[in-house]
Amino acid sequence: MMQPALDLVIAALETIREEGDRTPRASRTALARLQTDPFFALRTARTTQEAIESAVATGDPGARNNKADLLSAVRERVGVCTRCAHLACSRTQTVFGVGNPDADLMFIGEAPGADEDRQGEPFVGRAGQLLTRILKAMNFAREDVYIANILKCRPDMPAGSFGNRPPTPTEMQTCRPYLIEQIDIIQPSVLVALGAVAVEGLLGTRATMRELRGRWHTYNSIPLMITYHPAYLLRNQASSEKRKVWEDMLQVMERLERPISERQRNYFL
Ligand code: SF4
Repeated sequence: MMQPALDLVIAALETIREEGDRTPRASRTALARLQTDPFFALRTARTTQEAIESAVATGDPGARNNKADLLSAVRERVGVCTRCAHLACSRTQTVFGVGNPDADLMFIGEAPGADEDRQGEPFVGRAGQLLTRILKAMNFAREDVYIANILKCRPDMPAGSFGNRPPTPTEMQTCRPYLIEQIDIIQPSVLVALGAVAVEGLLGTRATMRELRGRWHTYNSIPLMITYHPAYLLRNQASSEKRKVWEDMLQVMERLERPISERQRNYFL
């Protein structure tokens, strides 16, 4: 029943892409995905009309609102998600993501910790404060970028225990589609994955940070920089480690064609 309507949507989008004088934001990958996954449109838009508007938005003032609306629709579904029954029981609330829906730069972490679970926002604990300082050094405000985790619920801990545990591969696989929707809507120019767990959740690649960081990877044609999780820098305060993260961020700034001062180039040297 749904397929004929989707066929019409796809045909309209393809026509707009080929003939329109506006550049649609729908990538060829997204169009191909609509062809093969009819539920994609429903997951990423509340109505077919929104899917069309999302695809044709061209930098007009409505585009940003539309992205915010699309993210809100995903946020609503995440807020009531019980796919991981054990996490749905243990969480205080889901932690969806925060920042600019139209961000050029998007950071991906692994999962909410205790602070994030309490406040409902990613990266608000000590590691989050360090990320905010790194952003400031890059001349970004937190509101300029978008920040999300692979997992939207805090991994549960045995009663009476403290600290956080990393998400399991199954938990990450279960929650990953929400992150993919966020990336598809935001369409950042650059992604940054923070830590090996985030990389495993996003790419399904298991490797050491020594092997992964400091060079460009791609996710769905989007340049992806991999660097240490800020929590690592809290555990290891050596300037040499801070410098490694900073060098990764310098590469990100270069990729985004952001101005870099001499002072910025020399941090942690
Ligand atoms: S971790 Fe993700 S998939 Fe699992 S219950 Fe939470 S929101 Fe749903």
